[in-house]
Amino acid sequence: MKKNILLVAALLIFYSGQAQKIVKTINAEVSQQELKSHLYFIASDELRGRNTGTVENEIAAQYIASRFRSYGVQMAPGADSYFQQVSLMNAISPQKATFTVGEKEFALGEDLVFYTAKNGAFSGEVIYVGYGLEEDLEGLDLEGKIVVAKTGNGNPNERLTPYTIQKQRAVEQAGGVALVELFKPGRYPWRLIQYYFSGEKYSLYEGNEEEEEEAGFPSAWLLDEDGDLLSYFESLEEGATAEMTIGGQANKVIKVPNVVGYIEGTDPKLKEEVIMISAHLDHVGVSKVEGDSIWNGARDNGIGIANMLTAAEFLAKHPPKRSIAFLACNAEEKGLLGSRWYADHPVIPLEKTVYDLNTDTGGYNDVSKVTVVGFNRTSVTDLFSQAATAFNLEAIDDPLPEENYYDRSDNVSFAAKGVPSVSFDPGYTEMNEEITKYYHQPADEPQTLDYDYLTKYSKAYIYAVTLIGNHGEDIFWTEGDKYEPAGKELYGRD
Ligand SMILES: [Zn+2]
Repeated sequence: MKKNILLVAALLIFYSGQAQKIVKTINAEVSQQELKSHLYFIASDELRGRNTGTVENEIAAQYIASRFRSYGVQMAPGADSYFQQVSLMNAISPQKATFTVGEKEFALGEDLVFYTAKNGAFSGEVIYVGYGLEEDLEGLDLEGKIVVAKTGNGNPNERLTPYTIQKQRAVEQAGGVALVELFKPGRYPWRLIQYYFSGEKYSLYEGNEEEEEEAGFPSAWLLDEDGDLLSYFESLEEGATAEMTIGGQANKVIKVPNVVGYIEGTDPKLKEEVIMISAHLDHVGVSKVEGDSIWNGARDNGIGIANMLTAAEFLAKHPPKRSIAFLACNAEEKGLLGSRWYADHPVIPLEKTVYDLNTDTGGYNDVSKVTVVGFNRTSVTDLFSQAATAFNLEAIDDPLPEENYYDRSDNVSFAAKGVPSVSFDPGYTEMNEEITKYYHQPADEPQTLDYDYLTKYSKAYIYAVTLIGNHGEDIFWTEGDKYEPAGKELYGRD
């Protein structure tokens, strides 16, 4: 018994000695100047906001790969490049369109907007399908028909466009000609919908380039200000037909780079497990306003990339037991597209990827903290606290759960597949002016950052990765989490 106590005590001293040693090494080696130099490059005016599809966005990707190379970060096993090409469809919305049902004629913009489209003339029998959800469509013959539905699923708190995508796929697969959803303004006014649906749009594109002109499906929203149209379509007689014409829609397939790096772990067994470090490299580019028109994105997400590179430099020299992968993903600002592409086409198998530690920030307003979005959702909460405390910071949970930040950044692309993930971000405790004056603003410049704080934050981040990388216990979702079932399926757990 006594022997055991001595052994436990000896082990504790050993482990806390190890912990102190790694903290000391992090303190000695992580350089504020290096961190700063990444940010001054990534968020420079010359990179013009790193918008997806621009040369400057590719230069940012090259910079990351170049740093990986110089630090001794490897390419992913089996890969012959640091780059993964993400295939995107860049669509310019229709310039003209008409929609006619009986006596009623609807005009583009005023009454009608397109989520996706395709040039041509379309006609068919009209079928009204309620919300058009899976259960509504069951048993219906949609072949050759123009399908009319209500937007969303009836829950006013849910976003509508994911349902539009889902319904559009179902209608297209069932041989339907077009989808038209009736939109009743509530939380969002029509002019905002018009703004959001017009201009350029991006989506993942799995088809081949020769078919790009053919790609797209007519999927429209129709303004139904006071519900009159709903009653009209509900009581439309069977066999009624409609016509739709669309012109000026342009599709272009583009490839944009994700950057992937890899550091092999030191433990012969645990190295088969991979901790993913992710952050998006793109931002929103330049706008047409007068004065400063460059949206530098120093915070969003220059901090995430600088942090990733700082961690890459350190971890290449001091790898933990588990292997580390890096994903600098693209097109986050277009709808998390780069990380979603990676999750659909993983370079390192997802079942080997046991954790994703993401960084994505709109800004910070408390330099005594780190904010972990998803703090209590996985089994390593204590390690975040330990990592923060070692550098005189406090790790806190997301203070604004109602904003649902967890599902709005790249970590969710992993979570949705079952990989436990969090976003480990610079400290914020509320949404105040300190955040909004920089969030998606041209003022988000590298000279406005607190580098003493960011160095501490980055050290805590590196320590958190090291602790998770060496963790002797099971790493998984907190019981009951909404992504736990996906995790069980991914890893084949009971
Ligand atoms: Zn961001």
